[in-house]
Amino acid sequence: MAKVEVKKAREFGLCFGVRRAIKIINKAVREHQEIATLGPIVHNRLVVAKLADSGVKVVNELDQVQDRVIAITSHGAPPQLLSQIQARKLRVIDTTCPIVRSAQKAAKKLAQAGLRVIIFGEATHPEVKGLLGWAGNNAVATLKGEEIANLELPRRLGIISQTTQSHTKFVEFINEVIRAVFPDVQDLRIINTLCQETRKRQEAAIELAGKSDLMIVVGGHNSANTQRLAEVCSPIVETHLIETAAEIEKDWLSGKQHIGVTAGASTPDEAIEEVVCKLESLASGD
Ligand code: SF4
Repeated sequence: MAKVEVKKAREFGLCFGVRRAIKIINKAVREHQEIATLGPIVHNRLVVAKLADSGVKVVNELDQVQDRVIAITSHGAPPQLLSQIQARKLRVIDTTCPIVRSAQKAAKKLAQAGLRVIIFGEATHPEVKGLLGWAGNNAVATLKGEEIANLELPRRLGIISQTTQSHTKFVEFINEVIRAVFPDVQDLRIINTLCQETRKRQEAAIELAGKSDLMIVVGGHNSANTQRLAEVCSPIVETHLIETAAEIEKDWLSGKQHIGVTAGASTPDEAIEEVVCKLESLASGD
């Protein structure tokens, strides 16, 4: 039987923004014993479960915060929410990723310059909800450039992106918006708010997918950057997104010799190692 090779992408797994958020939360919980986060601190069940064991509770509403200490997640928060937190005199632990913070500043800058802000992103994602808050009145978030043609838009527009979107899709979106708003638009500004950590992971995943006959993407099913990794690999080769090694199906490996593994920016190192071990064990017929 031919030897099966399991290879990891040259860039994958936990990014600096998530490592930083986990470090801040761990320090805060040692100091305060119990803290609440409004939504999961990162989009990975394993990370959230581990933090829950040490006293970090996930709540959905400010009313559910009992311990007077609340953490803002790595995805950031809109200014309106920060004002509500301040009004309740809660102690804030802010883990907003610095890259997300830059995107918020870009949104604010465009809005202050009097431009209507268009955000390339999923309107329901927590980061995008935050960006919409910073982008002033009438900002719009969408993944479909053609939708812009149906909107009544002023002649001054600004475009930014959710940090974890794919750069090729962002370029396509910008082109669609340009087609929709020219020649009426007078002032069109684009600020590149994409995260380079995400871009590096996507490029490395595409490179590895090109050399593999199966790609496994490890990460939260609800993680935007993990979903993007699966999206960029699937047109190239058979790709499966899994959160844990338990989700691997033996049939996927049938006839495969080169298996590529990548992981989202919120995937813990242990989850990736477990997946690699299980793939190697199945490949060797154990
Ligand atoms: S993927 Fe990028 S934007 Fe998101 S937390 Fe990591 S470093 Fe920050």
